[in-house]
Amino acid sequence: MEQVIGKLYVVATPIGNLTDISQRALDVLREVDLIAAEDTRHSARLLEAYMIKTPLKAYHDHNEDYQSTVLVKQLLGGDNVALISDAGTPLINDPGYRLLSAVHDAGIQVVPVPGANAALALLSVCGLAVNSFVFEGFPPVKSQQRQDYFCRWLKSPHTHVYYESSHRIVASLVDALAVLGGDRMVAMGRELTKTFETIKRCTLAELVEFVQSDNNQQKGEFVIVISRAQVDESAADTDIREMLEKILPIVSLKQASQVVASLTGQKKNRVYQIALEMQQS
Ligand code: SAM
Repeated sequence: MEQVIGKLYVVATPIGNLTDISQRALDVLREVDLIAAEDTRHSARLLEAYMIKTPLKAYHDHNEDYQSTVLVKQLLGGDNVALISDAGTPLINDPGYRLLSAVHDAGIQVVPVPGANAALALLSVCGLAVNSFVFEGFPPVKSQQRQDYFCRWLKSPHTHVYYESSHRIVASLVDALAVLGGDRMVAMGRELTKTFETIKRCTLAELVEFVQSDNNQQKGEFVIVISRAQVDESAADTDIREMLEKILPIVSLKQASQVVASLTGQKKNRVYQIALEMQQS
């Protein structure tokens, strides 16, 4: 007889408001044989609220290796398991990497049950360009390393989103300001989906002032979005024109546009338009 193998469900739970959980997530949590949770006492409150009686087992940073082996054995033995974290989507700055990698290696089926995530919650309401964003996790805790971390975004064409703790929110925003300047558009999501939710969209200089001047705005959980660097179009155009002047006499318009676009990081269409204008003038 063929051995039936269990499935691992990776289930998102609320980031504050207990009702931010899907019906499917609740059904899965009720029906699996075991829930692997980051903090069993914390998750017990969620399960109690929905009268879910499934047994809980601790799975966290300090027992990941051992528990991954145990859980894979249980899955191979036929148990269905759900993985949850304290809040939001497991593995997004939460434990689970070892387990997921072991489960894939063992050929066990994984099933995502998507839902809340703090970074996506803020991105969805921040009113900044978010069609291309980089999720950065938590910044380093030491100021110099944090400044180096922000430095990488100075000329970034992507919007950046990161998490910060209440202990470091002021120091970390001050470092961001020192590196990126006050004019960048940013957004802060504090205590998202909870009673004292704050959503603030302004310049980086205004955000630092806003948080520094109000102790209440320094408490709770934070997500920060920093918009992409503004491209200085005129400076970029000058660079493009200078390069095209040298290269257009040698290669075709199309080839010149491709080469200059890749050297400057500008869009091919834009470079092509400038090259066309130069040829026609
Ligand atoms: N897995 C989670 C998720 O999907 O968002 C993130 C876990 S990470 C360990 C915890 C951090 O997420 C917090 O320190 C805070 O920066 C951010 N966070 C979680 N809940 C939040 C909320 N309700 N409002 C703002 N930030 C939150």
